[in-house]
Amino acid sequence: MTENGKKRLFIKTYGCQMNVYDSARMADVLAPLGYTPVDSPRGADMVILNTCHIREKASEKVFSELGRLRAFKQAQEAAGKDMVLAVAGCVAQAEGEEILRRAPQVDLVFGPQTYHRLPEMVVRAARAAGKGDPKAGLLDIDFPVESKFDHLPEETADPGATAFLSVQEGCDKFCSFCVVPYTRGAEFSRPVAAVLAEARRLVAAGVQEITLLGQNVNAYHGAAEGGGTWGLGRLLRALAEIDGLNRLRYTTSHPRDMDDELIAVHGDEPKVMPYLHLPIQSGSDRVLAAMNRRHTADDYLRIVERLRRARPDIALSSDFIVGFPGESDADFAATLRLVNEVGYAQAYSFKYSPRPGTPAAVEDNQVSEAVKAERLAGLQQLLGEQAEAFNRACLGRRLPVLLERAGRKPGQLVGRSPYMQAVHVSLPALAIQRLKGQLVEVAVEAVSANSLTGRLIVDAEPSHPRPAAPSIATRSRISA
Ligand code: SF4
Repeated sequence: MTENGKKRLFIKTYGCQMNVYDSARMADVLAPLGYTPVDSPRGADMVILNTCHIREKASEKVFSELGRLRAFKQAQEAAGKDMVLAVAGCVAQAEGEEILRRAPQVDLVFGPQTYHRLPEMVVRAARAAGKGDPKAGLLDIDFPVESKFDHLPEETADPGATAFLSVQEGCDKFCSFCVVPYTRGAEFSRPVAAVLAEARRLVAAGVQEITLLGQNVNAYHGAAEGGGTWGLGRLLRALAEIDGLNRLRYTTSHPRDMDDELIAVHGDEPKVMPYLHLPIQSGSDRVLAAMNRRHTADDYLRIVERLRRARPDIALSSDFIVGFPGESDADFAATLRLVNEVGYAQAYSFKYSPRPGTPAAVEDNQVSEAVKAERLAGLQQLLGEQAEAFNRACLGRRLPVLLERAGRKPGQLVGRSPYMQAVHVSLPALAIQRLKGQLVEVAVEAVSANSLTGRLIVDAEPSHPRPAAPSIATRSRISA
């Protein structure tokens, strides 16, 4: 308990922005029961691990964290207090029964689609424990027919200048390496009116930039009030009409769902930021087919071309998996060729690692760890050079930056450029509080592969002109 009688709630979030959003909503759901978020599990009345199944050895990391938390729970019990220990998210969905079997200290296990029932679960857990049956009915990993969004309360926390807004969940694509369709369920889009209402509330609370979230966000097809459904492009246009909302982003997209309307909105809606994370995973058509991506490398390149025609300065990002089962040297060379052709501003790349329950995990033509490591190093070198070249092209330019939070160094704020680059700005102490959460102009004075450093511009030159396209000056070739 805190000094004012509130219960302490500690949530540890793993993985993607969807989980960050879900964790904030779990805190909202538990607020009426008196729970208030704290920064440490020590002395907490409830601890939730909101897990992610995407990364390697995800469940082992959860079990090792649960081992650490057992000591905190025992310390609470020794002091005559209780600690509810819960596991949520995609590992909970995929391995719920195993968690209860292997980690008896866990009181609750629930999946991503049922956390609106958390208050009821907490009460049930307490009741069951009171009857000496601490594990009765504490697993809730349904895919309920009703949407959790219909049951969540309005947001309670102060969101700051930027916020996530979940508009779509689940996935029907079934890429052969991915657990999301099994852990998050089928595609679901929130109705247009619910999204607009949440966006207006966020803006009223001070948010200037909203990132729309979905596992497959551009597959959005939300029911509109007048009948029919809207795609993501139309939704972005409606959101752009909200006064006070200055920036819009969305993630994560699938190439197959980049429709004409969505590409056009990048060209004619200035509030839609010139940055897009558009995963391709591999540049080889053979591997893309084995991954069940249902598009070719050429399809992807045509989309990039159309996006650049609509918005010439758009910065592109992607995900890559190297060493997918059966990937040959020639397949990997095709990935490098595609990277050279696109020129990325940033990207995420990983070695393939099997996810239990997915088709690719049981393929017998797995690539050796040594080959995966070598390919990953080559790809990351190329992507790193491209990121640095993209950042270098911003040197000397002025960019609009939304200052979000304190930097690592004293007297520094960090924000994002339109292209998603982190931008560090040193400011006098008096200006820090005033400018946090503000959209300002920054002159870029130094760059690295990962960020920019700049100086606040205080003159009255025209603000936020559409910048010229940063170019990827380096076209490094790593030939196969
Ligand atoms: S589209 Fe994305 S979320 Fe869906 S299965 Fe493929 S990788 Fe997973």
